[in-house]
Amino acid sequence: MGSFADFHCHSTFSDGRLSPTQLVDLAYRNGVRIFAMTDHDIGDGLTEAFEAAGRYRDFTLIPGIEMSTDVPGNEVHILGHFIDWHDEPFLRRLDLLQESRLNRAREMVEKLVTLGKPVTWEAVEAFAGEGAVGRPHIALALMDAGHVSTVNEAFDLYLSRNGPAYVERDRLSPEEVVALLLSVGGIATLAHPRELYASGNLDALLATLKRAGLTGMEVYYQDYLPAEIETLHAIASRFELIPLGGSDYHGLGGPQQREPGNIPLPLEPVDAYLTVARERGALHRARIAHVR
Ligand code: AMP
Ligand code: ZN
Ligand code: FE
Ligand code: FE
Repeated sequence: MGSFADFHCHSTFSDGRLSPTQLVDLAYRNGVRIFAMTDHDIGDGLTEAFEAAGRYRDFTLIPGIEMSTDVPGNEVHILGHFIDWHDEPFLRRLDLLQESRLNRAREMVEKLVTLGKPVTWEAVEAFAGEGAVGRPHIALALMDAGHVSTVNEAFDLYLSRNGPAYVERDRLSPEEVVALLLSVGGIATLAHPRELYASGNLDALLATLKRAGLTGMEVYYQDYLPAEIETLHAIASRFELIPLGGSDYHGLGGPQQREPGNIPLPLEPVDAYLTVARERGALHRARIAHVR
């Protein structure tokens, strides 16, 4: 059941519930040996993740990030792997994104007050901790205040894209995000394309992003069904994208949740992805363990 690699997970540095160390340990326990931590719009947790990975002889850690962007009608999340996350202009760009996340979260809290479902900013801050604030933190505050009983319910009633408390983020275009990731030596993969596919926007986006330098697309993801995987795999092939995978584990529960490594990602695309990294001279930014 367990996959050898997992390219998508969140820690407390964004909206995950486990610290980078706990996340690395859980991935290792689950049999994952090639792992990317990909917090939302922030790389700060990677220092701790590398320290944690250093305790294992046979564990490869890839520095990653998940960047939020959108097209009309859909959110678009793009994963960057093998990034130079110390790059100064990149860090400044991420700082601006953190600031806009904060302002936007405040606006969502105000909307909830207007909707008669008040949460305090202090509660949101407490759930967010030091890292990038996001809607899951507001969802936890809604649970804490007794307005909802699960994170999924908070999204369904208030926080989803069409929900009454939703506020948009500052937007970079998907092409800009791919260019930004490439500018720091990253390799870019489109995350969780289910909704994009359902709304008929996937082909057009992939055509654009392929030109911008996209390398992969997540095909093996959370609760994606075999038939869905097959469809997405065919689309990835058509655009000559590597069919990658990740659990997107947050530790927030819900029926869609999968633990690190609990995805049917085969080895072949993993090897193909690492080959791209080698060819681009990006491997050295990962901690590579020679296990095979
Ligand atoms: P944000 O970055 O603040 O826009 O929040 C995005 C995060 O919210 C995603 O990474 C998911 O973890 C979570 N999320 C988005 N939509 C839903 C949903 N419908 N149900 C539960 N969690 C969601
Ligand atoms: Zn998230
Ligand atoms: Fe995402
Ligand atoms: Fe994610």
